[in-house]
Amino acid sequence: MAGLRKLCKLYGSLVVKDEKGAAVRYVWDYASDKPTREEEMPFGSERHAASERAKWLQHPPRNRLQCAARGCDGCAVCAPPASPAPGTP
Ligand SMILES: [Zn+2]
Repeated sequence: MAGLRKLCKLYGSLVVKDEKGAAVRYVWDYASDKPTREEEMPFGSERHAASERAKWLQHPPRNRLQCAARGCDGCAVCAPPASPAPGTP
């Protein structure tokens, strides 16, 4: 499980074969800091939302593109605080 943990955290998600040879996708749960079967936190679920919030706090967006990709509705990156125009005292 240590390898899965490391790789899942690195890539955000990982597909592994279970004991029956079926592919199982694991996604990283940023809220509880551990790999989780995707079916346990599907997109849109409360748990997925909590993970996204934690991810945002741990890895804040660094540019407008990342903001747009995450559906940001305004932060210091994509909407910097209004600064005085040059030449204004
Ligand atoms: Zn933003």
